Amino acid sequence: MRNFLKKMSGILLLLLCCTILSGCQSHKQTQTKHLTQIKVVSTTNFYGQVAQEVLGKHGKVTSIIDSPNVDPHDFTPTVATAKKVAKSNLVIYNGVGYDTWVKRLQGSKYLSVAQLVGAKDGDNEHLWYNPQNVERLTDALVTQYSKLLPQYRTDFEHNAQQYKQKLHQLDTKMDQIKHLKTKATIAVSEPAFDYALKAMGFHIIDNHFSLAIEEGSDPSYTDIAKLQNAIKQHRIAFFVLNKQSESKIVDNMVKLCKQEHIPIVKVTETMPSNDSYIEWFDAELNQILKIVKQHA
Ligand SMILES: [Zn+2]
Repeated sequence: MRNFLKKMSGILLLLLCCTILSGCQSHKQTQTKHLTQIKVVSTTNFYGQVAQEVLGKHGKVTSIIDSPNVDPHDFTPTVATAKKVAKSNLVIYNGVGYDTWVKRLQGSKYLSVAQLVGAKDGDNEHLWYNPQNVERLTDALVTQYSKLLPQYRTDFEHNAQQYKQKLHQLDTKMDQIKHLKTKATIAVSEPAFDYALKAMGFHIIDNHFSLAIEEGSDPSYTDIAKLQNAIKQHRIAFFVLNKQSESKIVDNMVKLCKQEHIPIVKVTETMPSNDSYIEWFDAELNQILKIVKQHA
């Protein structure tokens, strides 16, 4: 039923977009010629914030999903979304099925992070939790912005260079955690933070359980029992909770962790509004650093 409704709203949206677009298409072609400011749309705010850093004063980035109150996996675009996309010069999206709804709208130019980093369908889609992917996005943005406003290429290059330097603090912290940790086994409520965890050498024991939670289906009895036992036997160093989604089963797991004094690391899938990618990510890493320091 949910899928059917989603499809129907998609079709309606498409019809509306066509109407909007037929009105502004001719206008748009002349617009690009006298472009002075770049309008960028990002499906999600973590990429949007990075895109604004590289763009600097030469335009504005608008993010469609810009707070953890929306579950990106269940997002359906509105007419307002379609208008923003239609008016933009560049659309940044994640890809690999995460936010592909944006491809049904009519943007003039698309930049897919998945394509950029070579991610394929079926890969873990939370690509932004790998700082190296964001570094590659930074470079790709310089190329795209410079095509639109070639006179400001050096500005874009300079902004990107500065941003990449700041980004390295994440790699440094992840490396620190990697070498400090004494226990590598952990569990997660959802696979949102997995790229970061794997880069730090953690071994996730409940992939099956977390995938079911992410997909909104019930994990099997065996998967639940396995995780409960791992918690009761203190086999995991901590439990990573994606605060952004709700599940009774996960709530109970968190309760059990608290009973057993297993630390909870709280992450979100989407960046809180007005935060920055680096600070958001860094604060999540700090929770883990604190835990591994206590056991080092
Ligand atoms: Zn997710």
